[in-house]
Amino acid sequence: MSECLFCKMVNGDIQPDVVYEDDDVLAFRDVNPQAPLHVLVIPKKHIATINDLEPGDAELTGRLFLAARRIAEQEGLDARGYRTVMNCNAEAGQSVYHLHLHVLAGRPMNWPPG
Ligand code: AMP
Repeated sequence: MSECLFCKMVNGDIQPDVVYEDDDVLAFRDVNPQAPLHVLVIPKKHIATINDLEPGDAELTGRLFLAARRIAEQEGLDARGYRTVMNCNAEAGQSVYHLHLHVLAGRPMNWPPG
């Protein structure tokens, strides 16, 4: 997926502000943060949307949440709380078609979301 923005980050063509990385997962600060902490956690493997997940991706998907937890701990925001969001397709507001988990923290969050 040479044209995918987040694949370019995985490949090193674009250098994001990385906060966590392992063999399967990359996490970096969102360029347009919506909270004091706004990180995107992505699988290194290209998966376009939640609709493209397969049963074999179950462990990988769980690892995105384990990374989110680790980042919240790292940033000292785990006890206060944080929100994880994964938008799927246009009506939900997805703009980058490479799976990503938003991790937002550092301010009170409203519900329902906009
Ligand atoms: P979504 O709208 O759920 O697809 O989220 C995509 C997110 O990617 C948005 O919050 C953007 O601000 C973020 N984003 C777009 N380009 C970059 C970039 N070059 N580096 C970091 N975050 C980005």
